[in-house]
Amino acid sequence: MLGIGHRKQSGAVQGKLEDSLQDERQTSSIILNAIEDGVMLIDSHGVIQLFNPGAANITGWPSSEAKKLDYRSVIKLVNEKNEAYTEEQDPLQKIFKQASGEPLRDNQAFLITRSGKQVPISLSVSPLLNQNRALTGAVAVFRDVTQERTEEKQRSDFISTASHEMRTPVAAIEGYLALALNDKVSTIDTRAREYLEKAHESTQHLGKLFQDLLTSAKAEDGRLISHPILIEMGSYLEKLVNDLRFSADKKGLSVEFNLGSADTIDATAISMINQKVIMPLYFVSIDPDRLREVVTNLFDNAVKYTEQGKITIGITGDNQVVQIYVRDTGVGIPAEDIPHLFQKFYRVDNSATRTIGGTGLGLYIGRKIIELYQGRIWVESEQGKGSTFYINLPRLTTEQADSERAREASQTAINPINSLTTPVLQ
Ligand code: ADP
Repeated sequence: MLGIGHRKQSGAVQGKLEDSLQDERQTSSIILNAIEDGVMLIDSHGVIQLFNPGAANITGWPSSEAKKLDYRSVIKLVNEKNEAYTEEQDPLQKIFKQASGEPLRDNQAFLITRSGKQVPISLSVSPLLNQNRALTGAVAVFRDVTQERTEEKQRSDFISTASHEMRTPVAAIEGYLALALNDKVSTIDTRAREYLEKAHESTQHLGKLFQDLLTSAKAEDGRLISHPILIEMGSYLEKLVNDLRFSADKKGLSVEFNLGSADTIDATAISMINQKVIMPLYFVSIDPDRLREVVTNLFDNAVKYTEQGKITIGITGDNQVVQIYVRDTGVGIPAEDIPHLFQKFYRVDNSATRTIGGTGLGLYIGRKIIELYQGRIWVESEQGKGSTFYINLPRLTTEQADSERAREASQTAINPINSLTTPVLQ
């Protein structure tokens, strides 16, 4: 009796388990069918195993047809110039090559639908790992962001127009205030001078704010002018540091420039001629004006947020990257602010920023510019001790630099007008 009772009981438990698994499957399928986002599951061969109705709506491929196809014939990704994604850009291919097991995101991608329409999407791809942490497939979740992009464009158009229109009167006010403050042109008493100096400072701040707003709006909708050319970073940065050091000198801060360092220089890049060490050449393809904006902002910040000590600008690198750093001995940045520092309008709330003027847009613009050249910018800092801002940019090999130089030379020969407008830095 007992035995039968037990069997009966375990049968009941088994039944319950199956019921709950069945319920779970049903719930998952209800959710997958109901959500607007596209959900696609591919196996390790790239074959589609699941394609929900949301995915079908966005791509124009009915689920029944998409299933069992290679995902590449269904999910065609392009950039804003309608150029097909390369293997290195496609997160669905990258996910199988990276070892970290981290999800990949792409908010700039466009998807070509079955009928050939280009739809902006935000895409996130997560790896599927089995118990041994081996990759068995990937899940892609994507969303049509046409409306968000349109609204973003309207917002950025408004900011562009407004800041452009407001820059002109502000420049006029600033000019007249400068005239009023000029002894050779006007006579004013000391009190009036004090007020006008304050007004002049605020107008300059306003002018900078409009300029930064305009640049960030352009960076957001891809209108930032960029003429990348071949640059040898060592000589470029040395010259830039010489132009910038004045503001640090004025504040009594010393400035040091470090080109390479014994522990980071790769041996292949150093040669000995007559016992003289030739420093490595760090070639990068970038617009020198854009890079100047970024480094100048880092340098200005180092000066602004450092009361005493030293600012060090340096270059190191390996075969793949050129690394620029700007180090200061200033106030430092609290750990909790670091993740937000490169966001729009973000300023650390402390006594330094309360007294020192700023727009909170400089680092945001800097990040946008560096990302334009497939680079990375970040900061390491300790409060009270100082901060180091790093920029990594893809390094060109000597051969790539040679062919880039030849290409630039042939373009200049075809169109000599360009040679007058494009700065060529060695
Ligand atoms: P701004 O300097 O105009 O406020 P940024 O975007 O350049 O704007 O910098 C954002 C914030 O990051 C600053 O307000 C400041 O709080 C912090 N910050 C930037 N650089 C430094 C630095 N070198 N040392 C300490 N804090 C810094």
